[in-house]
Amino acid sequence: MITKLVMATNNANKLREAREILAPLGIEILSQREAGANCDPDENGSTFAENALIKARAVYEAVKLPTIADDSGLCVAALDDRPGVYSARYAPDGQHCAKLLEEMKDVPDDKRWASFKCTIAYVDDREATTMSGACIGHIGYEERGTNGFGYDPVFMVGDRTMAELTPEEKNKISHRAVALKGLYEYLSKKQLDEKIYG
Ligand code: IMP
Repeated sequence: MITKLVMATNNANKLREAREILAPLGIEILSQREAGANCDPDENGSTFAENALIKARAVYEAVKLPTIADDSGLCVAALDDRPGVYSARYAPDGQHCAKLLEEMKDVPDDKRWASFKCTIAYVDDREATTMSGACIGHIGYEERGTNGFGYDPVFMVGDRTMAELTPEEKNKISHRAVALKGLYEYLSKKQLDEKIYG
């Protein structure tokens, strides 16, 4: 049975969300720091799954405990799914939304579709696997709202931006929540298998 799981991050929000969604499993979730892993691998994959696996494998090798890692970003249809895996590196700090609005300034209403995507990788001594989630919306015309982070002020779900949703509302629909629910199902089944077959 899995009793401890390491999350390859020190981001407090990601840890809190994972702990909340996975709580019924009764597994202790440690941050990378709490597990004593000091690694920051090059995220040079070309997909969210590759990058999530790179992070999870690096931490797994350091601590030899079941490890999860996530990678996420924004894919904009009119930009051929950019910035995608380059979402964090798309612009200098604080300028991501402004740069995106500028790139999108001539794109008409019906072509402004975008999706946040998240892939979570799970790695242990026997296997490596991934689970994904997406949240579909469209890119607005101005920055609105003060909640959230990153591209939230320009990502519209209905007539509000993600930054205008409460954290509780965002956590119900977010790409990361969907992927974490997939992980929850996966780990529940794994615990059951181990109980029955050892
Ligand atoms: P990472 O997966 O933490 O490396 O996130 C990659 C980048 O994608 C972040 O720096 C943000 O720019 C963007 N991103 C990922 N998830 C979200 C979200 O929920 N809201 C806004 N931006 C996000």
